[in-house]
Amino acid sequence: MTKPAAGRAARVELRGVRKEYDTGVAAVQDIDLTVEAGEFVVLVGPSGCGKSTTLRMVAGLESVSAGELRIGDRVVNDVPPADRDIAMVFQTYALYPHMTVRENMAFALRLRKRPAAEIAERVGGAAATLGLTQVLDRTPKQLSGGQRQRVAIGRAIVREPSVFLFDEPLSNLDAALRGEMRRELAALHHRLAATMLYVTHDQVEAMTLGDRIVVMHDGRIAQVGVPSEVYLHPRDTFVASFVGSPPMNLLAGTTVRRDGAVFVRLACAEQALVQLPPLIAAAVDRSGVEAVVLGLRPEDVEANAAGQGAVPGTLSGVVELVEPLGHQQLVHLRVGTATVTVRGAAGERPPVGTILVVRVDPSRVHLFDAATTNAVTTMP
Ligand code: ADP
Ligand code: MG
Repeated sequence: MTKPAAGRAARVELRGVRKEYDTGVAAVQDIDLTVEAGEFVVLVGPSGCGKSTTLRMVAGLESVSAGELRIGDRVVNDVPPADRDIAMVFQTYALYPHMTVRENMAFALRLRKRPAAEIAERVGGAAATLGLTQVLDRTPKQLSGGQRQRVAIGRAIVREPSVFLFDEPLSNLDAALRGEMRRELAALHHRLAATMLYVTHDQVEAMTLGDRIVVMHDGRIAQVGVPSEVYLHPRDTFVASFVGSPPMNLLAGTTVRRDGAVFVRLACAEQALVQLPPLIAAAVDRSGVEAVVLGLRPEDVEANAAGQGAVPGTLSGVVELVEPLGHQQLVHLRVGTATVTVRGAAGERPPVGTILVVRVDPSRVHLFDAATTNAVTTMP
C-alpha cells in the first residue's frame, strides 16, 4: 500500500502573511501560524473571512503580498505551485469526465513520467485506502457524490505530497455523507501521518477533525488552539458565538459589587443578577471593568430550577420555543428583552408562554469586556 514515510510530512509556517487583491483592501493580514509536520490544522470562520485566500497562498495559487511563507525548510513565497510538494482538494472535485477513476488518479503521476509499475502501485494503494477498488474502471458520472470526492482525495494521495490542502472538500455532500467522509478523513490522517491544512465554515467539522483549529474573523486569526481549549476559553465574543452549536448566549450587563462578591446585572432584565466565580471576580476587581458581556453556554444553564427570578443566579423567562432533539431539548426563553437558549435533558416539554426559572452554573460563566469584546482575562 502507498504510505509516505512519516518523515516526509513537512511543517508549514506563515509569518506576518498578508494578502491584498487588486482592490487594495487586505483580504487577510497578520497571519502567524505554524502547522507542525503531521498535524491536522483546520481554518474555520464565516464566509469571506479569508480562509481560502490563506490556503491558496500556501498552495501558490495566490501571491503573498507581504510576510514569509515556509514549507519544510524552504521559503516558498516565489516557488511555483508545482514545485511546492503540496496537493490540494477542492469543494468542486473537477475530475476529468472522460477518464476512468484509475486514469484520473494516475494523471499527475503520468505527467511526471513515473514508471508504470509505480503508478499502478500507488493508484491501487490509494484506491484500497478509499474503498474505490471496485470502481477503478468507471467514469466520474457513474459514481455517487461521495465516491467522486474520494477520487479527488485519491488524486491527492497518490502524489504523496508533504502537505495536503483541503478547501471545503465536504461542503457539496449531504449531511449523512459529510459525517461519513469526515470520519474517513480523520482515519486517513491517522494512517498517513501527513500534514493537513483544512478549510471549512462548519465549526462541527473543525472541532471533530482538527488537532488544532484556527478561528478566523475579518481576515485575521481570532484564536488558535486545540478544539476543547477554544470551546472552553474563547478569547472574544466572536469566537464565543462562532464555536458551539447552538451558540453561547451573550448578554450585556454591568458589574456590581455586593457583600464582597461581584455580580453582573443584566441589561435585558434589570432584576437579574448573576454571580461571578472568584477568579473572574478578582479579574474584574483588577481591571475595574463595568460594561461587560456575560456568556452562558446553553448546557451551563439548568432548567427546572426552584426559586424566583429575583434570586441571584436564577433567571426567569417566558418559554418562546422548545426544540426537541431526541436525547435533549433546547428551550428558548425570553428573559426581559433578550432570548436565552437552554439545553436540557429531553423530558417534560414546558408549554410555550409559561414562565420558567433557570439556574446559571456560576462556575461556568464567561465574561467579556463590552468595549473590546475580549474575554476578561483571569491571568494576573
Ligand atoms: P473565505 O474562503 O473565508 O470565504 P476568501 O478567502 O475567499 O474567504 O475571501 C476573503 C476576502 O477576499 C473576501 O472579502 C473576498 O471577497 C476577497 N476576495 C477573494 N478572492 C478575491 C479576488 N480574486 N479578488 C478580489 N477579492 C477577493
Ligand atoms: Mg472559501
